Amino acid sequence: MIDTLFALSSGRLPAGVAVLRISGPEAAAAVLALAGVLPPPRVARYGALSDPRTGEELDRGLILFFPGPASATGEDVAELHLHGGRAVVAAVLRALSALPGLRPAEAGEFTRRAHANGKLDLAEVEGLADLVAAESEAQRRQALALASGALSRRVEDWRVGLVSALALIEAGIDFSDESDVSGEVTTDAVARLARLKDELLAALTDAARGERVRDGLVVAISGPPNAGKSTLLNRLAGREAAIVSALPGTTRDVLEVHLELAGQAVTLLDTAGLRETSDLVEAEGVRRALARAEGADVVLWLCDAGSEPPPALAHAVKVRTKTDRDAATPEGWMGISAATGAGVDALIARLEREADRLGGREPALITRERQRRALEIATLHLERALGDFGGHEELRAEDVRLAVRALDQLIGRVDVEDVLDALFSTFCIGK
Ligand code: GDP
Repeated sequence: MIDTLFALSSGRLPAGVAVLRISGPEAAAAVLALAGVLPPPRVARYGALSDPRTGEELDRGLILFFPGPASATGEDVAELHLHGGRAVVAAVLRALSALPGLRPAEAGEFTRRAHANGKLDLAEVEGLADLVAAESEAQRRQALALASGALSRRVEDWRVGLVSALALIEAGIDFSDESDVSGEVTTDAVARLARLKDELLAALTDAARGERVRDGLVVAISGPPNAGKSTLLNRLAGREAAIVSALPGTTRDVLEVHLELAGQAVTLLDTAGLRETSDLVEAEGVRRALARAEGADVVLWLCDAGSEPPPALAHAVKVRTKTDRDAATPEGWMGISAATGAGVDALIARLEREADRLGGREPALITRERQRRALEIATLHLERALGDFGGHEELRAEDVRLAVRALDQLIGRVDVEDVLDALFSTFCIGK
């Protein structure tokens, strides 16, 4: 007999409302034990919940029942909407744990059951994890598309295309005595494979954008010491995130501020002033600063003297600072005064354009490294399958089969357990 799981599925207590979720074969019995009645499917009923052992009323709230398989997990599911007090929730959880066949759910266990019952494939589970973690509009949109099966459907289409090409190749092998028929079906199969390869490549090309949106864009603020980097960061963040100091070289590590620009999650890095230094700690800071700045999606090069950035940062947006002291801004530079705020709006507008350009408007199909790698492998096999096999069409068929397998891995039809274990450990309890 499978355990019936229960957990608090809503957030931190105290809160206005707390939602407890129960999933498994004993869900209906549990509701009956606490509420005395089972509401009709998917209809909210208000009522008292009592401890079955003592008969003492614990709380009053909404009760919902979703019979499987038409439920979130595919099993019978009940939801209790309680007052969101710590003692209320603790009392109801205690009453539930005293019931036979019930036990507290582990992190991600409801979703694991949903997956086991065919409600969600691996890509959709990943989308759900991202949706719960989404902080920006772009992340939300992208995660919702993934959780709703956008990638899974596309992969399914590709798979169907590959399998039909495979059928043609196999037919060609069967007809290999009649070289006309055989040659024709092979040409047709190869044409189909070539079209599919282009589609896979297009999705791969877009994957970097998907991963960037998921992880958030990184904007590094770089420049010589005392250029006004920390002051700008504080102004952008609207709070005192970095230590602003009149002594050069005080920002020794990399400071981060998270914010949303043009709907994209953005991490702003304030990096140590780039200069030659004999101070070992500061030298380490400078080394890290350069490395982080080089890896950033956008680099702002701040300088109050208007000196050019080092070659590694030649692509940086050049910002002449402290224009309140001296307004001479070189050609190709933006001028700002973090002290008075002059030019900062134009700089933010520039950053928003960059965020928009890098993140795009439409959600990307591929958003995780794991998905990208599986798609890369599928594309690789597909490219091989387009080669000349000198009549050994069974080798072409084998490459197509390997491409199909990689697609199956992408959406978790095969080899799913390790990925799932790692993934569910990132879920919270009650999800
Ligand atoms: P960082 O080393 O690049 O992070 O520079 P800070 O932000 O710590 O600033 C260095 C010094 O320049 C501090 O004394 C700031 O008050 C000053 N400063 C920063 N921005 C401006 C500005 O826009 N105008 C003026 N006049 N001073 C500024």
